[in-house]
Amino acid sequence: MLALRLKAWKTEAVLEEVPEPGLPPAGALLKVIGAGACHSDLHLMRDFETDAMGWGPPFTLGHENTGEIVALGRRAFGLEVGQPVAVYGPWGCGHCRRCAIGEESYCENAAAIGPAGGGLGLDGGMAPLMAVPDTRLLVPLGSLDPVEAAPLTDAGLTPYHAVNRSLPKLVPGSAAVVIGAGGLGHMAVQILKAVSPAKVIVVDTRQEALALAKSLGADETVSMDENPGPAIMELTHGRGAEAVIDLVGADSTIALGMRVARTRGDLSLVGLAGGSAPFRFLTARIEVEMATTFWGTRAELMEVISLAQAGLIRSHVQRFTLDQAAGAYRLMREGKLEGRAVVTPNA
Ligand SMILES: [Zn+2]
Ligand SMILES: [Zn+2]
Repeated sequence: MLALRLKAWKTEAVLEEVPEPGLPPAGALLKVIGAGACHSDLHLMRDFETDAMGWGPPFTLGHENTGEIVALGRRAFGLEVGQPVAVYGPWGCGHCRRCAIGEESYCENAAAIGPAGGGLGLDGGMAPLMAVPDTRLLVPLGSLDPVEAAPLTDAGLTPYHAVNRSLPKLVPGSAAVVIGAGGLGHMAVQILKAVSPAKVIVVDTRQEALALAKSLGADETVSMDENPGPAIMELTHGRGAEAVIDLVGADSTIALGMRVARTRGDLSLVGLAGGSAPFRFLTARIEVEMATTFWGTRAELMEVISLAQAGLIRSHVQRFTLDQAAGAYRLMREGKLEGRAVVTPNA
């Protein structure tokens, strides 16, 4: 079968013929319906140069996947051949304390395991077939469109986890700032509106991205190019926001987050742009809690899928065939995608 492969660090992904995967004994074989193209794939192609994480190329890209079950291994209770499912992306050991509570993105045996999951060291979903090692990593989609559902597993789950961290602070009268209105940001807006009464303020450099955020329920949009700090302070009555979710992670966006997080507010750094900011008195308000977050838990993926099934969140997708996948990444690099690009290897 053809697959979109990362063959070496610092190279573009290429389509190449690979053998079809076998059925993992405790897992499932999927016919891939949707494989989301994630911004972190660009970092894999451009920024990584060594196997410092304990894994590396070659592997098939695509860590944001849905598919139809083609075959099931042993212990496949409650799942059936033909059923559409989402794939939980971070594949932990399954038995450490973190994995036991579903936080496989924070698996304590990650270093020993090596690859972080399908599309991240192991073969992912940018191919007609994908092997998933354990059925615990599958969440049934019900009647959701599997192409639209693919981004729920990362672009939905990752901001959901960051929002969850701040949820107790997002009381009536509070505000949440989302920095970056791309693949994750357009989901973050909808998640915030679905689970909290907070005023949602979205920041981006691109007017089209801000327009999309507005159409998805953002209360206010602020251009990153027009002195966003004072604008956000004014929108929050001079107090700042209870939660700032930085989906970019550049020097400028982290600085903005520290500027506008309210006293005792949260700043969650999600974006992987590699920026930094000094941490000391007076660089942020008192008791601002800062955290990097990574992906989300298995239970949270179930919750995200429930939100989508209830019609409260929906990913805005642009569809690409496997032949067009490299082009999707090109558009992403140029900032020309609206919402999320999803590759449909069997379309
Ligand atoms: Zn991702
Ligand atoms: Zn583990």
